[in-house]
Amino acid sequence: MSSTFPEGFSSVYGPVASWRYGRSLGIDPIGPVSTCSFDCVYCQLGEIEDKTRDRRIFVPTSRILRDLQTFAVGNFDVMTLSGSGEPTLARNLGEILSAIKAATGKPVGVLTNSSLLDDAAVRQELALADFVAAKLDAAGDGRLRRVDRPVDGIRFAAIRRGLLSFRREYRGQFAVQTMLLGPWPERERADYIAFIDELAPDEIQLCAPTRPRPLVHELDARGGGPGEPRPYAVRRLGPVNPQVLQDFAGRLRRETRIPVRGPLA
Ligand code: SF4
Repeated sequence: MSSTFPEGFSSVYGPVASWRYGRSLGIDPIGPVSTCSFDCVYCQLGEIEDKTRDRRIFVPTSRILRDLQTFAVGNFDVMTLSGSGEPTLARNLGEILSAIKAATGKPVGVLTNSSLLDDAAVRQELALADFVAAKLDAAGDGRLRRVDRPVDGIRFAAIRRGLLSFRREYRGQFAVQTMLLGPWPERERADYIAFIDELAPDEIQLCAPTRPRPLVHELDARGGGPGEPRPYAVRRLGPVNPQVLQDFAGRLRRETRIPVRGPLA
C-alpha cells in the first residue's frame, strides 16, 4: 500500500470544467505514479510509468476523505474518479465511491478504460457510481494494440464481454467514450457500430485528442482544459479533421439512434 506522498500531493483536485458533467471535482485513487493497464498514444499523463493490470490500494480511502475536507461542497456539481491512471485498478474503488458520496451527498462518476470489466468484483464496485464513461477506442485487437497499447494479456474479446456484462447489470448513467485519431476503414466502422448497437449505452461521447501529451509524467496533467498553458514539455498530436468526426457522429446517430455528444461531434 502507498502511504507516503510527495510534498503538495493531494488526491483531490479541481474542480475542472467538464463539457460532459459540469464542475467536476477530480478524485485520484492512483496517486503520484501514473499507473494503468493501457498506455494510450494520446494519454494526457504522458507515458504511463507503471503498466499493470494488478489491482492494489494506491491511496488509502482515509487519505482521500481527508483531502476532500479542504474543498467546499458548494463549489462543484459532481465528483469524478480518473486522475493518474485507471481507477478500477484501485482495490478500494467501492469503498472510495461509498465514502465520498456519503461525505458530500454529490453524484460520483468513474472514467474507466473498460479493461477490467470482465472481473465481476470490479463490476460490482463500479456499479456504486452514479455515472460511468467506459472507453472503447477500437472494435478489434489491431486498433486496440496500436492506439491503447494494453499490457500483455488484455484482449478485445474480454473487453467486449466485460462491457456487455456491465451494461446488463448497471443501473446508472452509462456512456461509451471513443477517441478518434483519424478515419477508420469501413470494416472497423461497421464492426464498431454493430457493437454499439448491441451494447446500447445511454450516450456515445466522441472525442479527438486536444490535450497535449507531456513527455514525462506530470501530476498537473490530471486536470485542466485543452487550451491551458502547460509548464512542462509536451508533444501535440496531429489534429483530426472535424469533418471526419462529424460524419462519424452523424452515421452513429442515424444507425444506432443513440445520442452522440462531444466537443466537436
Ligand atoms: S486509459 Fe486513460 S490513463 Fe490509461 S493510458 Fe489511456 S488515457 Fe491514459
